[in-house]
Amino acid sequence: MARRKTTTHLIIHCAATPPSMDVGAAKIRDWHVNGNGWSDIGYQWVIRRDGTVEKGRAIDQVGAHAGYNWNYRSVGVCMAGGVTQATRRVNGRLVRDPEDNFTQAQFDALAKLIVEMDEKYGDLEVIGHRDTYALDGLPQLKACPSFDVAAWLASRDFSEEASITEEAPADDGKMAVNTAEIVFEMGSGSSVTMTVHPTEVNATLSAAMSGGVRKDNGDDYVLYPPHRIQRVTVDMPAVTSQGE
Ligand SMILES: [Zn+2]
Repeated sequence: MARRKTTTHLIIHCAATPPSMDVGAAKIRDWHVNGNGWSDIGYQWVIRRDGTVEKGRAIDQVGAHAGYNWNYRSVGVCMAGGVTQATRRVNGRLVRDPEDNFTQAQFDALAKLIVEMDEKYGDLEVIGHRDTYALDGLPQLKACPSFDVAAWLASRDFSEEASITEEAPADDGKMAVNTAEIVFEMGSGSSVTMTVHPTEVNATLSAAMSGGVRKDNGDDYVLYPPHRIQRVTVDMPAVTSQGE
């Protein structure tokens, strides 16, 4: 991993987990390290359902959460939640849709974290993951974090925020499999695997076919043009196991 030299943005994400699942940093680290094969959890911070703020990747390191052109100059914050509890059937599979279902405690913790990061780095631009696409001139590939960050910021009074308290992450032992996997095989023999919310598969495919495939492993950033794509395989998840 590389040390981040500049910090201009705070990018908000969601875990794309249903509201009943109180996922934390330890579990997301497990998904990213053992599931994705990354060196560490992609986000610098995770906010649990009860508003507990947990440390993820070391704060001064380049993260892996929004494409390298954003990761090298931002901190990533992941909010547990962001998809519906209920599932619906799409092409024979059960999927969950994006939903703003975060708790008041999470929004309060997020506000405090923003104030603290502002004090550490100066005035940060606070945006949602989905906002990065428009800023890059790309079609919006993701709904993450499932709420309008600009509208939330405008509605929030930041004048009385205190500093956050940090707590060690606890492994909650729960699993989420609410992601679809798209494998793009390139003519060169290499392949790129993208993990997306099941509702984002079609948008991801059409964006890939028009603009190309972005590969980001945290340190490297590669764009494969559409004509290099030889084969595409989509692996949709079976119904997600739920938390308690
Ligand atoms: Zn995200």
